[in-house]
Amino acid sequence: MVELTKNLRFIADGMLGKLTRWLRILGYDVEFKPNEADDKLLILAKETKKILLTGDLELYRKALRSGVEAFLVDGKTEVENLAKISKKFGINLDVDEVEETRCPKCNFRLKMVSAKDVEGKVPSTTLKTYKEFWVCTNPQCQKIYWQGSHWKKIGKILKEAKTLIN
Ligand SMILES: [Zn+2]
Repeated sequence: MVELTKNLRFIADGMLGKLTRWLRILGYDVEFKPNEADDKLLILAKETKKILLTGDLELYRKALRSGVEAFLVDGKTEVENLAKISKKFGINLDVDEVEETRCPKCNFRLKMVSAKDVEGKVPSTTLKTYKEFWVCTNPQCQKIYWQGSHWKKIGKILKEAKTLIN
């Protein structure tokens, strides 16, 4: 069954670092566990009721056998992976329509702030060029984001992924 809700929460295995960051940018809660053994991942997914994302067919089969909801991410490219996961879970790939976004680095929610709030914390040229900034709400992270050149790349990749779905 396809669930069309942002309440989906995921747990990703060590092969899926890139996809983890993408899903966080799109606002999804993704726990990234690069160093966890398969059995531990399964227990964790079961206990937290999170959907296991894995690139490992063996682990995927194991998950299904133990009643853990899982999705096999087996695309050849990042674009293909995004398209597959979007199709499966009804994930919206329009980054402009993303209301809530998460820190790609640590999964905490980002908060929109003004240029004044980040004065002295970002290069002055950046401060002059951009009006909107986002700050990670994790006190241990506090990373600042703005719609720099990589934003264009993000838009391009999401667009490509969308064409694969239709
Ligand atoms: Zn963060």
